[in-house]
This record gives sequence, structure tokens and C-alpha cells, in this order.
Amino acid sequence: MSYDFDLFVIGAGSGGVRAARFAAGFGARVAVAESRYLGGTCVNVGCVPKKLLVYGAQFSETFEHAAGFGWSLGQAEFNWATLVANKNREIERLNGIYRNLLTGSGVSLFDGHARILDAHNVEVNGIRHSARYILIATGGWPNIPDIPGHEHAISSNEVFFLPDLPRRILVVGGGYIAVEFASIFQGLGAQASLLYRGELFLRGFDRAVREHLRDELVRKGLDLQFNADVASIEKRAGGSLAATLKDGRIIETDCVFYATGRRPMLDDLGLENVDIQLDSRGYIEVDEAFRTSTPSILALGDVIGRVQLTPVALAEGMAVARKLFKPDEYRQPDYELIPTAVFSLPNIGTVGLTEEQALEKGHRVRIFESRFRPMKLTLTDDAERTLMKLVVDADDDRVLGCHMVGPEAGEIVQGLAIALRAGATKRVFDETIGVHPSAAEEFVTMRTAVRG
Ligand code: FAD
Ligand code: NDP
Repeated sequence: MSYDFDLFVIGAGSGGVRAARFAAGFGARVAVAESRYLGGTCVNVGCVPKKLLVYGAQFSETFEHAAGFGWSLGQAEFNWATLVANKNREIERLNGIYRNLLTGSGVSLFDGHARILDAHNVEVNGIRHSARYILIATGGWPNIPDIPGHEHAISSNEVFFLPDLPRRILVVGGGYIAVEFASIFQGLGAQASLLYRGELFLRGFDRAVREHLRDELVRKGLDLQFNADVASIEKRAGGSLAATLKDGRIIETDCVFYATGRRPMLDDLGLENVDIQLDSRGYIEVDEAFRTSTPSILALGDVIGRVQLTPVALAEGMAVARKLFKPDEYRQPDYELIPTAVFSLPNIGTVGLTEEQALEKGHRVRIFESRFRPMKLTLTDDAERTLMKLVVDADDDRVLGCHMVGPEAGEIVQGLAIALRAGATKRVFDETIGVHPSAAEEFVTMRTAVRG
């Protein structure tokens, strides 16, 4: 049987592009269909524009700190339209780079929505393409609960293109996106509130980290409301919004931003034409080689709902390309010890087990913690404190987890992740010479356990 392509990838996001480029590099005939934007969520409405907004938001604090170092600045003014326009220009540049990366690797690119017709055929813009393998890399989509007035709320898809900076914003949710954007809007000068249904946000992160970030955000003036949820949203005359909470309170705001998780993007994908199992949460179920229940159709990235991070989608894309076209070099992605950062202000950086997870898994633990005022702030009025925490196995001395809340935690954790993968013990940390003066050196100078 001859096919038009060896691999047809649906979705030019992080995972799809990586799989397509590597497969083409291994000599396969590859096509990619993309319906919306090259580079997918991360490049267009995710990691990249988010990080640019975080950089933008940092300046307000930096200007305040500058006074302590002798600088006097005029009245600082922020222009949202300039930031958005500059960000859009950068994203367009990246879209172009992605197009060149794909076409330059010999991949055939189809701009349009792809539908699966059967185990080996896909339709894009009314044209049928056959392929030995089809890869579903369609990512995810924001989930807004179906409450009355939900149409007045925005999601992360819209937040990057707001025409004006809202004067007041109500962010709903307690995950990565909610916490990052509450920080962004507060840093840019909006009056930001974060509403989370549980007792403390960032479920799954280390308890000390969650509490430390909560205290720092409150100290910076962010309005945090826990054990609270929105029942309905109403548009008022004059354009403002009124969010009625389940406890009856009403919050008046200019923008309600829902960041309450994401669902797999399976819309009009043609799944009814093939036998593809979904898991109990609605994500595509795959085996250890990313095969769906139709073996010629594979899936990866956010649409399989394992770990929804770009570097994970990249690793899965690489694995699929190797498995199909360079099996000698195949290595299964390892989902242990994935470092991650929440780019709130201050950042969280974390890798490995939380104290709670380590105890649940039956480890006896020694806990090392350091809380200090970063040197950079000593000449300023800013009372922000940094938290660093190590979770160590009391029996074999292995460092099980490293956690930080503080400036540049997202940068610092990458190196720690290498140490943990290499199986570093606390003794190895202790024997490592610090970089002085730095905040990061604290990770190798914590000597006395606070617990255990
Ligand atoms: P995607 O990147 O979503 O790509 C899927 C692509 O498929 C899209 O381009 C879509 O248009 C296309 N598509 C869908 N259906 C079809 C179809 N039928 N036909 C053709 N094309 C189709 N991760 C991090 O690691 N760090 C971060 O800082 C970070 N920040 C984030 C911030 C936000 C606001 C969001 C929403 C996510 C963030 N993420 C971050 C997560 C990261 O963006 C995702 O994990 C990653 O993009 C997943 O890659 P993917 O290839 O699975 O899917
Ligand atoms: P998350 O899954 O991180 O968080 C969702 C939040 O919404 C949780 O606090 C959850 O509460 C809450 N929630 C879920 N459903 C409802 C509901 N019906 N009503 C009220 N609250 C609800 O999702 P995000 O949308 O923040 O981000 C999606 C994913 O994108 C992240 O998980 C992450 O993988 C990735 N991402 C990564 C980033 C990074 O690496 N820096 C940045 C941004 C996103 P509860 O905990 O109680 O369930």
C-alpha cells in the first residue's frame, strides 16, 4: 500500500512541530496541518507571550527598587497598547520562524483544519491525504464552567489581546495561569483579585511554597479570596461586570478572567470515524509508544493530558519521531523529576517531591528550609522574603525535592533538576561550593534540618 505521506501531523504546536521536524530529518515524508497559528498554544497564547507580559509587569517593582540605589525616575507610565503591539510583532516573527523550520525540513504544510476520515486518511480544505501514520497533536482549550453569564468572561485565549488594561480584574482559578496572570495584572497597575474555590491555591505544590507565595502576594496588595467561587456574571449599564459569588457577595469588576483548567482539543476532528478510546477525563488514551486504540493513529502533548508543559510535549514529539522512523534511538520520555516554574512575581521553581508527597510515599524525610531577604532588596523598602526548601530522604540522604519561591526561581531550578536526575544526595549539595554572593548559593549552604 502506498501513501501520500509517511506521517501526517495534525497541529503545529510544540509537540507536533517537534515530531514533524525530526521525522522529516530521519527521512520520512511528513505533512502538518495547522488550523490556527504556527507554534501552537505556547508561542501564540501561552508560555511566550505570557513570559513577555511577566517581564513587563516586573518593571513597576524595579522602578521602586531603583530609588534605594540612588536613581530618581520621573513618574513612570505604562502603555498596554504598546506592550501588546510589541508582543504581537515578536509572535509574528516566531510564526515565521516556525514556518521556515517546517518547510526548511522538507515538511509539507497545510494551513487549515484537519479531520480524520479513517485510520489512514485525513481531509484538509476538502482535499484527502493518505498517510501510513497520523499523529494527533491538537493540544488543549480553556475550560470555562457553564455558569449564567459565562459569555462575559474571557480566557487565556483572549487575555493577550485585550484592547485596554482593565482597571479592575477578577481572576478565577488557583492553578498556574490564574496565579501568573493575577501577578501580571497587578504588576501592570490593575487592581487584581484572585478567587479560588479551595482553601489554598496551587494544589499539588509543596504546602510551604503555597503559603509563602500567598503571604508574598497579599503583602504586595493582591486581593486573594479563597473558599470562594462565582455563581453568575452580569453585565451592568456602563460596561462593568458584576460577579455574584456562591456566598451571595457581589464583586464589581471590569474583566472576569477564567483560568480553570483546559480540555483536550478534539472539536470536529473526525474521531467518530475511527476507534479511539478516551480516558475518564476525556483525553486521548495512548500506550507507552503513544499509539491510540487505532495503531496507525498516535497522539501526544496536551491532548493526551499527561503533563501539560511545552518541554514535555517536545520530549514526546521527539520520542514519536524516533519510535516510528529511528527505532534504534528510541527512548521513552521519563515523567519523573520534571522541573517546573510558576512565573508569578515572585516565581515558584520546583522539582521532585513535595514534603507531603514524600511522606505519602513512605519516605522518612529531613526538611531543610531557608527564608531570607534577598540582598538586592536590602537597600530598598521591599520586605519580600525568599523561601528555599529541600526535601531529603533521611535513610539514603538523596535529595527528593527542591522548592523555591523568590526572584529567578524559574531559572535556578533548572540546574537543580540536573542534580536530582543524577541522584544527588544532601552531602553532594553540601560539598558543592556556592556562587557568592547569590541567592542560589543558599541551596548548598542549608546545614540544619528544620524537621526530621
Ligand atoms: P498546542 O501547542 O496547543 O498545539 C496544538 C495545535 O493544534 C494548535 O496550534 C491548534 O491550532 C492545532 N489544531 C487543533 N486542532 C486542529 C485541527 N483539527 N486541525 C489542524 N490544527 C489543529 N507550558 C510551559 O512549559 N511553560 C509555560 O510557561 C507555559 N505557559 C502557559 C501559559 C498559558 C496561558 C497556557 C494556556 C499554556 C501554557 N503552557 C506552558 C502549556 C503549553 O503551552 C502546552 O503544554 C503546550 O503548548 C502543549 O503543546 P501541544 O503541542 O500539545 O499543543
Ligand atoms: P490548572 O489545572 O493548573 O488549574 C486549574 C485551576 O482551576 C485549579 O485551581 C482548579 O481548582 C480550578 N478549577 C477547575 N475547575 C474549576 C471550576 N469548575 N470552578 C472553579 N475552579 C475550577 O490549569 P490552568 O488553566 O491554570 O493551566 C493549564 C495547564 O497549563 C497547567 O496545568 C499547566 O500544565 C500549563 N501551564 C503551565 C505554565 C508554566 O509552566 N508556567 C503556565 C500556565 C499553564 P482545583 O485545584 O480545586 O481543582
